[in-house]
Amino acid sequence: MLNSFIDEAKINELLAKTRPDNKQVKDIIQKSLSKQRLDLAETAALLNVEDKDLLNELFTGAKRLKEEVYGNRIVLFAPLYVGNNCTNDCSYCAFRCSNSEARRKTLSDQELKDEIIALEKKGQKRLILVFGEHPEYSGEFMANAVKTAYTTKFGPGEIRRVNINAAPLDVAGYKKLKAVGIGTYQIFQETYHQETYKRYHPRGKKADFLWRLYGLDRAQQAGLDDVGIGALFGLYDWKFEVMGLLSHAVHLEQEFNVGPHTISFPRLQPAQGVNIPETHLVSDDDFKRLVAILRLSVPYTGMILTAREHPELRREVIELGCSQIDAGSRIEMQGYSQALGQEQESDRQQFKLGDTRSLDEVMRELVSDGYTPSFCTACYRLGRTGEHFMELAIPGFIHKYCMPNAIMTLKEYLQDYASPETRNKGEQAIKQAIAKLPSNQLRNEVIKRLGRIEKGERDLYF
Ligand code: SAM
Ligand code: SF4
Repeated sequence: MLNSFIDEAKINELLAKTRPDNKQVKDIIQKSLSKQRLDLAETAALLNVEDKDLLNELFTGAKRLKEEVYGNRIVLFAPLYVGNNCTNDCSYCAFRCSNSEARRKTLSDQELKDEIIALEKKGQKRLILVFGEHPEYSGEFMANAVKTAYTTKFGPGEIRRVNINAAPLDVAGYKKLKAVGIGTYQIFQETYHQETYKRYHPRGKKADFLWRLYGLDRAQQAGLDDVGIGALFGLYDWKFEVMGLLSHAVHLEQEFNVGPHTISFPRLQPAQGVNIPETHLVSDDDFKRLVAILRLSVPYTGMILTAREHPELRREVIELGCSQIDAGSRIEMQGYSQALGQEQESDRQQFKLGDTRSLDEVMRELVSDGYTPSFCTACYRLGRTGEHFMELAIPGFIHKYCMPNAIMTLKEYLQDYASPETRNKGEQAIKQAIAKLPSNQLRNEVIKRLGRIEKGERDLYF
């Protein structure tokens, strides 16, 4: 019988008793800037910082760490809902089985292809396929959807990395996905607090806290070494959830020698017929704090900020340590292939999105703000995943490999999909990014390859 590796008593005690002084907080930030993962006590100390000046140091530290580990690169992806049938009854989700108003749909092969083509036409290269939890959505079913995504191509467009966000599978199910080359398998625990978990998941397979908690252990056992964890902020105390996420990361490190590839921190959004008590809703200010603290706690883990948040807040939060965002997202079934207008349809989507801008608009803002947006998929295609990826995630790697790859994938986007204004600003951003590359040799090589992309070559990477 498995036990939970979330030590609630210890987390509660640390949160209740840790009252760090200024020097301790500064030392913890320094440890994190030396790229070491923090432990639970250190993270509890950061969570309990209330002093304004210290909070500012914490934000400055998170920004610096992001720059040093990830550069100014930001990876883009889009979610694609494949099916919203669901046998669970999560009280916060419009797809819950008791919501009779939801329009249910599983995309046919052709409908899925239509969605993929619509995404490729916008310039997307990285997808996350999303599924409800239903016997229909087996490992094999998901594997077929992944195959369709990789093989459906339109013009210069292609999908080069497919991730999945879905229910936990058994080892055999994950093996089917490994065989078709998925990227990351994401499962959000929603809340790490067992009693709260029980309350929000009254029925269906998801009611089993431990089956979900160990879901990514089974993925690792099946050889899927890129896994993503997450908590749905707003169900329980945000400080507890940060400690839960860290405990999960530590558990994966201890058991499999590799921490999670990504951490997600979705915040509860309004959804059809959903009425959640406001007790634990997370304010914008606390949201920024939790992102900065997560950044400092797990320096080498990718952090995903989704379009649940509105554009102004996203702009601020990206700086604090996010490495991936989705853009141009539609989360209603068939939302990409069927033009539905700006106002997304409530009976076809899981919750309400905060950022409904197009990919082009988001790209324009990113390059104007000094970022290098990236569609890079090199690591996973060269087998640089899991433990191997962790070894490579050493200082310098990002600047030698990820930045050049970001520049080249940005160039492809500008050539094939960007509006004239975005192209203009993007070309300036490329010049600035080239100037910051670590050596002349690399600069020259990248410039050469950009010339090849201008002549029509695609998919060049280091
Ligand atoms: N059905 C699968 C599951 O529950 O794991 C995977 C997909 S679910 C559609 C993706 C995630 O959306 C959930 O894990 C949950 O964290 C999040 N979510 C559900 N309802 C939400 C809401 N009202 N606001 C924000 N995020 C929500
Ligand atoms: Fe189903 Fe996932 Fe929604 Fe829960 S969160 S009702 S499992 S789609």
